[in-house]
Amino acid sequence: MNAAEVCNTNCNKVKVSNSGDSNSISEADVDVVQSPNDKRKYKVVVLDNGLRVLLISDLNSDPESSSECEKPCQDEQKNEDISESETDETADDVSDMEQDAIPSDGGKQECVEDGEKLAAAALCVGVGSFSDPPDIPGLAHFLEHMVFMGSEKYPDENAFDSFVRKHGGNNNACTDCERTTFCFDIERKHLKDALDIFAQFFISPLLKENSVDREINAVDSEFDMSKTSNSVIKQQLFGSLGKKGIPMGKFMWGNIESLKETPSTKGIDLYENLQIFHRHYYSAHFMTLCVQAKVMNFTLAAPLDLMQSWVTEIFSDIPNNKTTQPSFYHVSDSFNTPDFTKLYQVVPVKNTNQLSLTWHMPCLRHLYRCKPLHYVGWLCGHEGSGSILSYLKKKSWALTVVAGNAESGWEHNSTGALFEVNITLTDEGLRNYEEVIKVVFEYLTLLREVGASVQIYNQIKLVEDNDFRWKEKVDPWDYAEHLAEAMQLYEPVDYLRGSTVLYDWTDECKFSIESVIHKLLPSNCNIMVLSPSFEAQADREEYWYKTKYLVKEVPQSLRDPTAFRPRRQLHLPPPNDFIASDFSLKDPNTLYTKEPKLILNTSRSKLWYKQDRKFKVPKVCVYFHILSPVVSTSAKSQALLDLFLDILSHNLVEVAYNAYVAQLEYEFKATNEGIIIKLRGFSHKLHKLMEIIMDRIDEFDVSDQDFHTLNEQLKKNYYNSFIKPEKLARDVRLMLLENKSWTKVHKRAFLANLRKVDLMNFVSEFKRMSHIEGYVHGNYTVEEALNMESCVRNRLRNDALPQAMLPVERVTQLPVDDSVVRVKSFHEGTRTRLS
Ligand SMILES: [Zn+2]
Repeated sequence: MNAAEVCNTNCNKVKVSNSGDSNSISEADVDVVQSPNDKRKYKVVVLDNGLRVLLISDLNSDPESSSECEKPCQDEQKNEDISESETDETADDVSDMEQDAIPSDGGKQECVEDGEKLAAAALCVGVGSFSDPPDIPGLAHFLEHMVFMGSEKYPDENAFDSFVRKHGGNNNACTDCERTTFCFDIERKHLKDALDIFAQFFISPLLKENSVDREINAVDSEFDMSKTSNSVIKQQLFGSLGKKGIPMGKFMWGNIESLKETPSTKGIDLYENLQIFHRHYYSAHFMTLCVQAKVMNFTLAAPLDLMQSWVTEIFSDIPNNKTTQPSFYHVSDSFNTPDFTKLYQVVPVKNTNQLSLTWHMPCLRHLYRCKPLHYVGWLCGHEGSGSILSYLKKKSWALTVVAGNAESGWEHNSTGALFEVNITLTDEGLRNYEEVIKVVFEYLTLLREVGASVQIYNQIKLVEDNDFRWKEKVDPWDYAEHLAEAMQLYEPVDYLRGSTVLYDWTDECKFSIESVIHKLLPSNCNIMVLSPSFEAQADREEYWYKTKYLVKEVPQSLRDPTAFRPRRQLHLPPPNDFIASDFSLKDPNTLYTKEPKLILNTSRSKLWYKQDRKFKVPKVCVYFHILSPVVSTSAKSQALLDLFLDILSHNLVEVAYNAYVAQLEYEFKATNEGIIIKLRGFSHKLHKLMEIIMDRIDEFDVSDQDFHTLNEQLKKNYYNSFIKPEKLARDVRLMLLENKSWTKVHKRAFLANLRKVDLMNFVSEFKRMSHIEGYVHGNYTVEEALNMESCVRNRLRNDALPQAMLPVERVTQLPVDDSVVRVKSFHEGTRTRLS
């Protein structure tokens, strides 16, 4: 099928009330657009109290699949390796304005038997930290903590938590600028009971006064953890540069000082204010609820009708105080201040050099159908030829460029939208940061001159359409949470796709994109440069996080908009030939078995294969584990392996970026036995990506400059990892348990004296002395799977290794007695972690 013919929509008629007023329910037909690949049923209802509800029935109609894994192509765990997260502030451990976003015990069960699949629910209150009273910063976050402390009907403050945990689930909440979201998941047969306990938190919560001190401490502890996040300290400083009293200038986390000490010296009753805030803002008509479940039809009612009757029975008593929902649309030009357009040199909490260019503009939510910020961010963050990053990398000035607006509550709210260009600088890039800024300004000049391009827009739209058309299921918790929040932002028709959809190109699109581009001028840009090297000169300190910084006037050479003629290396990206256009499913083959089948077994490689018959999507998932005895001999060889993968990733960025844009993903992971190469995405063009990766491995090389830069970066990454007590504790635990594992402290020691020749020798030994184990799963024929294997083997040119030389994973059996290992933390002021 031609890509242009892909049907993108699957309309689902639902009834929705237009009014939250309990006395005048009017209903209208609304088409909630869903992906044709999405077999779930949706229903939107509005209860008499104004609560907007999205119900999702997740009945799986494919009986053959009943014991298969929910997500064949999803990673089974997050790669904890440092290479992917430590250098990128967007992947910071503490997400921007969210708190408590990660359940304390980590991941939830994903690969479960059919009968145990989890149901999930999320309730989003359309009020957040922007509504904190000026003299009690952090009150919304604090209330979020207090809500789950028992209700009149279920007074035991642990009732909910213990109920969901007992039944395989979890619960959590997060506070954002204008939203507060509460979520849980649970085995589906206990959903109704859990919903009842959950709803009571919003009907008659106890907000127990004797829990106040303990929860203030919990908030303070989270504040303490947030101190290790560069993005958090940067946001707080950024907020202080706007007009006095703006919502984005607030201290939203809260701590003991803001919630207890200062209010008590001012004679403010925290508890009374907590109750007032709750009564005023926790009203049903500000709330959205999303419930996803696989409700079996034990009655005559359809599952969605049954769920509707539950929700109506359980949630109708949430009070509606009929007040007007707080909105901050009237707050305009928050950052139209002289302070904003200065140059800030900031001391980060992590050892990283970063440049942040930020523009502030009015809220653009009403333009979500053509997403002008997404268009401009897509181009500025592009990594292919002609891009900002491509140029900066050739100069060895930058490692990453992340651009655009992440649509978080901080970056896009009713007071405005941010457009950010965040660049991770090398040491050389730091020395030349003014030149780096010029490159960005020149690229923006280029965009202004070219104007909005329909070809670029349609390329982005095609990628988004393909993604939506073949959307895979995500974890029910994540889905419910995302949708409860989306319901606060989009029309019902776009609940499911509002965050990603691009409507057809129109003149209005062109106008809105161009008007954004014309706002991104040097003269209204905020510039922050983060580097530990500013420590000695930093003469100012931000109040809450004690972030040290200094302020300078921006040099005139960076202010003149006519000065930035685009250099010839900068240009718009060429057409992307990785974008899939063949979505046909392979004919079922006779080799099909329920379990993966070993289809190749030689002295150089093994290949397992399984054709997909459950999901029926034109995607494939490929894993190759390249095992070698040379990687586990010492901490040095493991450091070399990390460096090899970092350089390989660096070498691939530009050439593989188009694949990434076309949703063909790749990932490398160092293990104690070798490396894992994972690829996943549309089957049509995935082999092209594998060929590129393997060519780069085959012809592996690195310039002296890149070797030096990436070696230095790896040292920083190791350091940034082991200063975190939880990561250090994990490393030490693994070192004690696994006989061939070393901490990053040990690995870092070898990087200081490393020479390029050491790395090149290591890589050629690794390739020669290796054994390949592969698994191909999805929409591939046997021949295509075998082609993947030969692509790997032909480029690796590995010897046949005797079985005895293959690395084996061993774990130490610990003595029966309790043993405690105490390790001194590298970072003063962080709290103890257990592992
Ligand atoms: Zn919290």
